[in-house]
Amino acid sequence: MKIENPNPIEWRFSERAQQLQSSFIREILKITQRPEIISFAGGLPSPATFPVERMKQAYDTVLTSAGKVALQYGPTDGFPPLREWIANQLSQNGAKIVPEQILMTSGSQQALDLLGKVLIDEGSRVLVETPSYLGALQAFSVYRPEFKSVQTDDHGLVPKSIDAVAEGARLLYSLPNFQNPTGRSLSVERRVELVETCARLGLPLIEDDPYGALSYKGEPMPKMVAMNPDGVIYMGSFSKVLTPGIRLGYVCAPLPLVRRLELAKQAADLHTAQLTQMVVHDVVKDGFLDQHIPTIRELYGNQCQAMLDALTEHFPSEAHWTRPEGGMFIWVTLPKQINAMTLLDQAIAAKVAFVPGAPFYANEAETNTLRLSFVTVPPERIREGIAILGQLIKAML
Ligand code: PMP
Repeated sequence: MKIENPNPIEWRFSERAQQLQSSFIREILKITQRPEIISFAGGLPSPATFPVERMKQAYDTVLTSAGKVALQYGPTDGFPPLREWIANQLSQNGAKIVPEQILMTSGSQQALDLLGKVLIDEGSRVLVETPSYLGALQAFSVYRPEFKSVQTDDHGLVPKSIDAVAEGARLLYSLPNFQNPTGRSLSVERRVELVETCARLGLPLIEDDPYGALSYKGEPMPKMVAMNPDGVIYMGSFSKVLTPGIRLGYVCAPLPLVRRLELAKQAADLHTAQLTQMVVHDVVKDGFLDQHIPTIRELYGNQCQAMLDALTEHFPSEAHWTRPEGGMFIWVTLPKQINAMTLLDQAIAAKVAFVPGAPFYANEAETNTLRLSFVTVPPERIREGIAILGQLIKAML
């Protein structure tokens, strides 16, 4: 039976919902998924790196050996053996992280939302890097903070600039490794200074680290959470080292905070899929990532180098860019008079796409910046796309 609506609903959205905005990147991605476009816009990992066979095997093993448990509801904080594995991974340089500090989340994006929910009131001051990860700005914005930008330079966040904006701040959100969007990393000295500064100020420090394992050269840098497990909140993710489609991340936080996050998680979605967590535990427990991650590093490292070489060849000398040693992004600063939004319109017409830098700024944006991702584009197409962008930029000078 079909019931009529004589009184059609006039949707009254909450003030919070009225403020929600679609991520600019997701909007661009709709345009750039057309196959003829050379897209440097996506933040997607390369599907060439997804260990499909190993995952298939793990699903089979888990469903065969523990299907009834895997398909049942599970605990809010997560699958205990996986939390234990993560706690061991994070216990570096003498620091002891206990499994009780780990909360499994549906992607690390959910950890951002939960952190916003339990730490931010309307008007709370939240310190962020300039520029910062757009998805974090978006997640925190729902809770209506006052964002204050902490200065960054060519070497990332400048710890000395924190004091000037720290008064009353609830948290500092940082991305120490191959930052999204700039690709920059903090030196060991700056990490120590950052952790010390936050400890002195009694300021919770978030260390968002989805890219730390993707270092092309040398060993991964020390984690700040291991320097001060009582003051640093670490966020990790399986999206960039295994696959993003499984939506599995985690947060490691001091015990009083992790209990609050757990309550917020319970209200949000009860728990992260038990089957997924058991499968990932099966995959990682015997060291699979130790063989797998080097293959990702090699692919991304080669494509990053191809892009850096193409930038040197085709971009005008007035442009500057970062030289990442890991991760997925290069950040370009164009001469001041060029607006990257205008450039994007022209670039799309010429079948090349990127993300303009402006949406990555919490406050005043530098409109002459842009983010390039090299991970899903083969080297010949990288050269072709960068040559086109270079020509367009030169024509705008
Ligand atoms: N933090 C940063 C810095 C990211 O770049 C991303 C994904 N692009 C996330 C968090 C969220 O990742 P996920 O939810 O897939 O773990």
